[in-house]
Formats: sequence, C-alpha cells, structure tokens
Amino acid sequence: MAQAGKGRLNFRCPQCFMRDIDMDMFYDKDKKEYYCIRCQYHGDEKDVLEKNEQIRLKYRAMYHRFKDFEDFSDDLS
Ligand SMILES: [Zn+2]
Repeated sequence: MAQAGKGRLNFRCPQCFMRDIDMDMFYDKDKKEYYCIRCQYHGDEKDVLEKNEQIRLKYRAMYHRFKDFEDFSDDLS
C-alpha cells in the first residue's frame, strides 16, 4: 500500500473548490502528486497552483461583473 499523508503544504482540491467544496488534498510521496479522496483529482504542485490561480481569476471576474451591475444601477437612478 502506498504511503499517504499530508503534504508539507495543505492545498485544497481545485476541482472540489470549483463546486464550492473545501477539500484538503493528500500527498503521494512516491508519485510526488497531490490527490483528492473525494473526486479523484490528482496533480503535482505546479498543476494544483495553476488550477487554483484559474479559480481565483474566475471568482474575481464574477465580483467584477457584480460591481459593473451596481455601477449600471447608479446610472439609472
Ligand atoms: Zn476533489
């Protein structure tokens, strides 16, 4: 059985986080990969960081649209 444990950093699973589920991933020392026990996502540190960055951009974009909508409402009043 493969050795499994927490990595030196706790990463949340990007795939679960996209569905608003906050899930810590485990680290596979043999494969040097992080993996999620919930959704079968696995990837190395670089992949995890890239996906987390994409999610950050997605949420920032949503917030930006919301602000634009508020600006638009102000124009109507
Ligand atoms: Zn997951």
